[in-house]
Amino acid sequence: MRRTRQAKIVATLGPASSDPAVVRQLFIAGVDVFRLNFSHGSHADHAARFKTLRALEQETGRPIAILADLQGPKLRVGTFAEGPVTLASGQAFRLDLDPAPGTAQRAGLPHPEIFAALVPGAELLLDDGKLRLVVERCGADFADTRVVAGGRLSERKGVNVPGVVLPITALTDKDRRDLALALELGADWIALSFVQRPQDVIEARALIGDRAAIVVKLEKPSAVEQLDEIVALADAVMVARGDLGVELPAERVPAIQKRIVRSCRRLGKPVIVATQMLESMIDSPVPTRAEASDVATAIYDGADAVMLSAESASGKYPVVAVEMMNRIIEQVEADPAYRQLIDASHASARPGGDVAEAVCCAMRRAVTLLQAAAIVCYTSSGHTSLRAARERPPSPILSLTPRLATARRLALVWGVHSVWTDDVADVDRMSERACEVARRDRFAAPGQFIVTIAGMPFGTPGTTNLIRIAAA
Ligand code: PGA
Ligand code: MN
Repeated sequence: MRRTRQAKIVATLGPASSDPAVVRQLFIAGVDVFRLNFSHGSHADHAARFKTLRALEQETGRPIAILADLQGPKLRVGTFAEGPVTLASGQAFRLDLDPAPGTAQRAGLPHPEIFAALVPGAELLLDDGKLRLVVERCGADFADTRVVAGGRLSERKGVNVPGVVLPITALTDKDRRDLALALELGADWIALSFVQRPQDVIEARALIGDRAAIVVKLEKPSAVEQLDEIVALADAVMVARGDLGVELPAERVPAIQKRIVRSCRRLGKPVIVATQMLESMIDSPVPTRAEASDVATAIYDGADAVMLSAESASGKYPVVAVEMMNRIIEQVEADPAYRQLIDASHASARPGGDVAEAVCCAMRRAVTLLQAAAIVCYTSSGHTSLRAARERPPSPILSLTPRLATARRLALVWGVHSVWTDDVADVDRMSERACEVARRDRFAAPGQFIVTIAGMPFGTPGTTNLIRIAAA
């Protein structure tokens, strides 16, 4: 089974999509990476989804990536004595550490770190930014605020503090418990929420080691300010437009999205564009024209993947949403302007690059000149395939690896058809195997050219140093 598009689809599993029959339909419809959102659901729910996905992988023989998305330090207000309250614009409102249920004058905010970091003038956003408060006075255990934009506030609503770098790590106690489960179950990717600084990624990496690869979610202004540094530390990045659009004005999100995608393409890190892509399909079998255009824009920009959240997790039309996303991607990729835009936005190599870069440039030229049917990458860590994908070449990338973990991770990557295969002993065997798999998976007819790249000696990560051209 092979997909006929280069960009990938990430879909979130939830109550609307946990039945094995639905998960199977989602996969057939086009999902390459399944996201488990640890902000919702029990450990038993996630364990059951893992089991379903690994069984599906067995059945189809195609590697499937599982992305465990940790909630991160999502801040929330406490409870209210008599149900939701209404805050009027201009009124005073106090937040404090008192666990007593709140009123229309005050509420608990059980996060001492926030009070330690707040300063007069700082802005607090409640309930996805619907309510805004400005701090007038504050101390170690309280903040007296003025309501700038009022509205209804119910218990446990989220709190964003956009302008302030909070002295908290990206992993809460809950995240550590969720992470332990995700690693035990064998997650391929771990997503970190609300990363604020490079150190957050370094700390998470120390815990995770090489057991899973790391997706850094960019949803804090402070992370965007250190973009290249954070992208360089990540294995992949998510443009998390939901919280990003709360922490920053919505009109700033499009330019930042494009900047993040450019940075990731330059540094060769897979990038996922996420949130509200087909939002109206939560309740409707067709998207708005604006949503179709939003998915298309991410594809024209060269993103590796586009993502569905509530559309597939809790909406009425999970499978229809994936089918729609699949069709939009196919339409864009069939547009002649797509190739022009992808080429024009490719950061070409400059003197001073390394051997892998030289090999990949040569591969791109050869594939273009010969109109090669496929590129074959031999990879152990996945590095060679990532370098190949960074080129955004005009032919599909057949990635062969003896490591199942690598085969699964690469399901996220632009243009990569990932195959788990036996190890090969030498270059001749490698070339034969490349031709076999290219023919078997219908990437190349006999006589068509395939361009193979690899690193010698085999199995040494980061040594892409060989290119070989053969007829299938
Ligand atoms: P979330 O992350 O859905 O876990 O909040 C994505 C986003 O904020 O866009
Ligand atoms: Mn988020």
